[in-house]
Amino acid sequence: MKIEEVEKLIGKFKLKIPQETLKYFEEFREEREMMVDEIEEKGVKDERVLLAMKLIPRHIFVPEQIRELAYKDHPLPIGKEQTISQPFIIALMTENLEIKEDHKILEIGTGSGYHTAILASLAGEIITIEVFEELSEKAKKILKKLGFDNVRFFVGDGSEGLPEFSPYDRICVSAASPDIPPPLLEQLKPGGIMVIPIGDENEQVLSKIIKEGNGKGFIKKELCGCKFVKLKGKYGFP
Ligand code: SAH
Repeated sequence: MKIEEVEKLIGKFKLKIPQETLKYFEEFREEREMMVDEIEEKGVKDERVLLAMKLIPRHIFVPEQIRELAYKDHPLPIGKEQTISQPFIIALMTENLEIKEDHKILEIGTGSGYHTAILASLAGEIITIEVFEELSEKAKKILKKLGFDNVRFFVGDGSEGLPEFSPYDRICVSAASPDIPPPLLEQLKPGGIMVIPIGDENEQVLSKIIKEGNGKGFIKKELCGCKFVKLKGKYGFP
């Protein structure tokens, strides 16, 4: 794919990819295209999601010593015993969030900030919360370097959500939770979607929660088995 072609597609799909991000387009371009081909083969079809993943430089989000591994379909360590999630799982979560360009999204577990950048290129505004200040600061620096200006970073217990900016069109939970934290369901708009791995500490089921239009009940769909790091905090694991 050539840069002129890319710029046309960004316009067509209404993606928010800053010029600063496009500067990295040639770095690991082929590896990134292969990663996205693999994700597509595994069943993700949403063209906006696939394009965002072709353009966000994942290698910038992983420690320098393991940059060569950035485009393998695996999770990788990012410090503080946390991981950057597997690209396929990030794509699947994002596709199931059914994001529109004006959405306000709450992300629990900023981690490296890679998924934050994908979300920021698809939606209107991202509110992201991370329990480790060090990870949040690192992610904030990278997103700034990549030119994103539609993300607000917070440090704290995301299992309680962030009521001051609610309600949210979408909520993305990137850490394993024993159940749906009640405040998150409350902060989701009626008709809104939450994607969350639910289970025990060893394995979970990636679940899609659709809050009913009347704001009371919800529908739960199971997407696939997965393994995330633990959600800490009040509604997470002790
Ligand atoms: N999607 C991220 C990976 C997230 S890993 C990426 O692309 O890099 C899960 C993250 O959730 C970890 O950084 C962990 O520290 C964080 N986390 C765990 N419990 C949390 C909580 N209660 N509130 C906010 N963040 C939490």
